[in-house]
Amino acid sequence: AAKESGKNGIQRYSAELHKQSFERRALEADLKNALHNHEFEMFYQAKLDSQSIEIIGMEALIRWHHPNLGLVEPADFISIAEDTGLIIPIGKWVIETACRQNMQWLKNGNRLLPIAVNLSPKQFNDERLLDDILKILSETQMPAEYLVVEITERIVVEDAVNANKVLRALKELGVGLAIDDLGVGYSSFSSLEIFPVDSVKIDRSFIHGLPENQSNSAITEAIINMADRLGLNVIAEGVETIEQLEFLRKYQCPQLQGFYFNKPMPADEFEKYLNNSKQSLA
Ligand code: C2E
Ligand code: MG
Ligand code: MG
Ligand code: MG
Repeated sequence: AAKESGKNGIQRYSAELHKQSFERRALEADLKNALHNHEFEMFYQAKLDSQSIEIIGMEALIRWHHPNLGLVEPADFISIAEDTGLIIPIGKWVIETACRQNMQWLKNGNRLLPIAVNLSPKQFNDERLLDDILKILSETQMPAEYLVVEITERIVVEDAVNANKVLRALKELGVGLAIDDLGVGYSSFSSLEIFPVDSVKIDRSFIHGLPENQSNSAITEAIINMADRLGLNVIAEGVETIEQLEFLRKYQCPQLQGFYFNKPMPADEFEKYLNNSKQSLA
């Protein structure tokens, strides 16, 4: 009986794997047409000053409106886009859409704020990236200082020589650089020393356990202190509760982002949010 159930287990397992690879291939095929079919949308989430709770910038996050599946999260398609190379045109669309939207908010009477986009490793190491960014900045007329790129340390691990070259070129343009998800994955912190980084984002897995979890608290406090001594800005991502907010203010984390304040939202909703926050501050 044990043998039989073992065999069934394996069959179930391989059926599951088959289903997964089948779904992945189906998604892959759909992803190829998604850009052309205008199925992507950018959502925006505010970054706030931890003392004044004023909006000081935003992060642009991609969403995919799949014709049958509905809203597909980036966690379910960014890696497919990476593997297939589709991330290059998609990533370019992301930067272009974010910059254009940011300038539209300015035209609509809002203060220009820095807008952050996420760059994946393949996109970052693509030789067209710098030219694309230059072209987008000149077409949208957005000053380079208002663009921030969020990258993970994986980029640095994959091709350190190229990463260094690209980061320095971006820095020279005035584009801001943030290390995303700091503390997870490949963290060696060496990227902070080697590269011209402006800010670090503490991964939300550390923020999650604040203030009860002792190691989460210790790591968060250590990153804030380290960044301060290195002259870097720090952003805590994934702030969800008042207790987390209080901890981060106590340890003087300068910037915050998370569901406690707002979720990522479509452009028109974000614009209303910008307008409301202007009034409440006035
Ligand atoms: P990330 O850059 O670390 O983005 C933060 C993620 O945390 C976002 O998930 C955001 O919705 C979520 N988040 C924000 N506040 C909270 C909170 O308080 N609690 C919780 N539980 N989550 C929170 P999202 O939008 O699903 O994106 C996931 C990841 O996908 C991003 O992580 C980023 O690595 C990648 N991604 C998103 N948009 C793009 C894009 O345009 N291009 C590329 N290459 N990657 C993207
Ligand atoms: Mg990010
Ligand atoms: Mg992050
Ligand atoms: Mg993260």
